[in-house]
Amino acid sequence: MEKEWEKETLIRLFNKTCENFPDRLAAVDASNRLSYGELKGKVDYLSASFKRMGLKKRDIVMVQIANSVMFEIVIFSLFKIGAVPILILPAHKEHVIDAIIDRAKPKFYITMNDFYGVDYKKIADKMAIKYPFLEEVLTVMDLEEILEKPKDALGENVDVLLEEANTFEEVSPKDLAILELSGGTTGIPKLIPRYHGEYSYNAISSAKHCAMDSDVVNLSAIPVSHNFAFGTPGMIGTVYVAGLNVYCEYPSPMEIFDCIEKEKVTMISLVPSVVNLCVQYRQLDDSNDLSSLKYVLVGGASFTSNQAKACEKCFESTLIQVYGMTEGMTFLTSIDAPDEVRFFTQGKPCAKEDEFRIVDENFEELADGEEGEVVVKGPYTIKEYYKNPIETRDSFYKGFYRPGDKGKKDKYGNIIITGRAKEMINRAGEKIMPSEVEKYFICLPKVKQCAAVGKKDDLLGQAICVFYESSEELSMTSVRKFFKESNVEDYCIPDKIVRVENWPLTAVGKIDKSKL
Ligand code: AMP
Repeated sequence: MEKEWEKETLIRLFNKTCENFPDRLAAVDASNRLSYGELKGKVDYLSASFKRMGLKKRDIVMVQIANSVMFEIVIFSLFKIGAVPILILPAHKEHVIDAIIDRAKPKFYITMNDFYGVDYKKIADKMAIKYPFLEEVLTVMDLEEILEKPKDALGENVDVLLEEANTFEEVSPKDLAILELSGGTTGIPKLIPRYHGEYSYNAISSAKHCAMDSDVVNLSAIPVSHNFAFGTPGMIGTVYVAGLNVYCEYPSPMEIFDCIEKEKVTMISLVPSVVNLCVQYRQLDDSNDLSSLKYVLVGGASFTSNQAKACEKCFESTLIQVYGMTEGMTFLTSIDAPDEVRFFTQGKPCAKEDEFRIVDENFEELADGEEGEVVVKGPYTIKEYYKNPIETRDSFYKGFYRPGDKGKKDKYGNIIITGRAKEMINRAGEKIMPSEVEKYFICLPKVKQCAAVGKKDDLLGQAICVFYESSEELSMTSVRKFFKESNVEDYCIPDKIVRVENWPLTAVGKIDKSKL
């Protein structure tokens, strides 16, 4: 019998909603308001245009677009063809992009012209010179032109193009849908293959868990290209229930509160660092009307019970804690969870077939309440990384995926995440491998040795602190300048630097990071 996760495709899910509710408002950003009928019109047209340019099923496409209606149009246009977008976050710069292109060999590269002072097109053009297999670089502006002036752009009759829109090779639930980037347990993010059927099931299960219906107005404030805002339940879950997706370009508290009031937002997904900023902002200015908001989903990094309580007070709505990973497994607290569950746990997996265990170093299951390594498996959790046998070998055991987190299970089956089993800094939800920061820091003039560690920080959760040995004291300004010039992602730039003369060492003579 066909399993639930082998039934749907992301494009069928989209088409069903568009066909059943063409007049319902679908997607809104600062300059666009589209109904599902209008959205589908643009998706049909753009996918036909992509096809004309030579894009086919299974072709890989880099997509780096900030939160906007255009992001949604591009993603569903690619799904329609069966092409596979790699979801690159706006924060990713040349250093990550180069490595991803080298591994995935994309055919097209869709990016922004300029976003908050960064020239994304310049990076794309550089990559197109370096990698001859990159056939086409398109910017959001190019796509707007294509959508606005179809005849001029393609020299073709619109009707012919739209007819072509229905002659694609069929996409099946087992087809690769997207390649997402891992939170970065190694320096360069790993590519996570997600398939149409299982991804639809992940989004649908989490949408049901949050009791989403067509009245939902979902605000994407953190990057929608991250799995959390994309599909758990996020943008995809909202399309599934024929709700409204609202995009706010940048997660500043002012913009978030304004959007909630203006669009009568009912649901939002945030990382703890953004919640903390919102809490602080609201203490200064509580003029926005947030009465439409029902649920705030918070995940991506640890969230204390005090932060959880402050979050509910600030947003005047119910908190849904989320512990999840781009590799699949999604835990959520339920909408009617009592205080002790909502404030102190990250809930239960969203699908009944999901399995998780807390194990000791011998992979033996521990009793409820005992802390150990979290391991997970289920129908929508990946079984391997994309073209990466070494990481696959290291991240899976006995059919379970090992996210590298520590946690425990309460007596009701809720998970409580307590820390990391693997070395990693979680800065405002961005996962940073210390070795990646050290790799750059050691290149600073006169630095002999360095060690990066995560330091507890009220706002960021963890800040990056680098201890270094050098004949000279370094200034933060020179360190920042050096990292910027090295084209490293901004979130890898140290927040604090400390010069040391003597290193604390472990028994085998390694730098003892726990003492730092
Ligand atoms: P990503 O794939 O970027 O979503 O990162 C997944 C990782 O984020 C997990 O393996 C955890 O380390 C961390 N994470 C996600 N949600 C939580 C949470 N609620 N509490 C603590 N850590 C979390």
